[in-house]
Amino acid sequence: MEAKKFQSPNQREPLLRVSNLVKYFPVKEGIFSKVVTHVRAVDGVSFSLDKGQTLGLVGESGCGKTTLARVLLRLIPATSGEITFDGMNILKADGGQLRKHRRNMQLIFQDPFSSLNPRMRVGKIIGEPLSHHNIGTPRDRRKKAQELLEIVGLQATDVWRYPHEFSGGQRQRIGIARSLVLNPKLIICDEPVSALDVSIQSQILNLLDKLQKEFNLTYIFIAHGLNVIRHMSDRVVVMYLGKVMEEASSDQLFSSPKHPYTKALVAAIPVPNPRSIGFEATVEGDVPSPINPPSGCSFHTRCSEVMEVCSKKEPGFTIIEGDHRVACHLFGE
Ligand code: SF4
Repeated sequence: MEAKKFQSPNQREPLLRVSNLVKYFPVKEGIFSKVVTHVRAVDGVSFSLDKGQTLGLVGESGCGKTTLARVLLRLIPATSGEITFDGMNILKADGGQLRKHRRNMQLIFQDPFSSLNPRMRVGKIIGEPLSHHNIGTPRDRRKKAQELLEIVGLQATDVWRYPHEFSGGQRQRIGIARSLVLNPKLIICDEPVSALDVSIQSQILNLLDKLQKEFNLTYIFIAHGLNVIRHMSDRVVVMYLGKVMEEASSDQLFSSPKHPYTKALVAAIPVPNPRSIGFEATVEGDVPSPINPPSGCSFHTRCSEVMEVCSKKEPGFTIIEGDHRVACHLFGE
């Protein structure tokens, strides 16, 4: 699959703008459940996403990317910040606006095995969001499910079958069909191929690519490694401990990564070499606790280029070129 081309800013149309988004989870203790501290899952994240584009969100487990997705979907409330989606501040949306928002933003789950109700036929599973929003008759919903099954490469007659009758790749196709049923504008793909065999992964990625072109979809593509992100994304946001470390177009990020963490991620992209090393071997040490993140630059406990200032002062963003930005003292004044 070919890497995507980056569009210049004047060709772009913003669909989503996230400003200084924060999500802290309280940690309670004692019989009175007193809040003693917070887990800083998302800590001041900002980015924007243009219509028809794919934003890759990458970082190790626990970096806050899935929490960020859940806040964007309004499945959990934000602590502070702003999310403007299709011209509406969704953190201030009322009941009716929120319903509309939920139709326009859908999720493809990581695990195609647990995300489909085993007791429901596939037609019902795909049509469920329509019935939840009181759209169409049962017959209309089944017809729509049949159409979508064919679009994602399955058979219309599969509406009568149960999830256990399908392989992992086919189940993920069913999940994708379900995510399309409400004609959303944005789909959040939360590690959609990480539970699948390598041989199936590229088929699902190709399908997502095809659907994006066909339906002018906008994607947020979440992954813990850059190998998949590379082929899917127009822009990439690298996260660590709830913060953005670097943001750039896919071309810029892969040809000239700046942040030491991004460099480690890029170096860990698997190559067809049996002696190549994995991501864990490239970044030493464990991810620190988001309850008590390191002072200064949160990456300083694992950074191979750490300097004295790094543990004392949090780096702000430095613009490298155009809209390539990095939070690292190596590039500050
Ligand atoms: Fe490494 Fe310092 Fe840059 Fe953080 S600010 S990534 S510790 S060099």
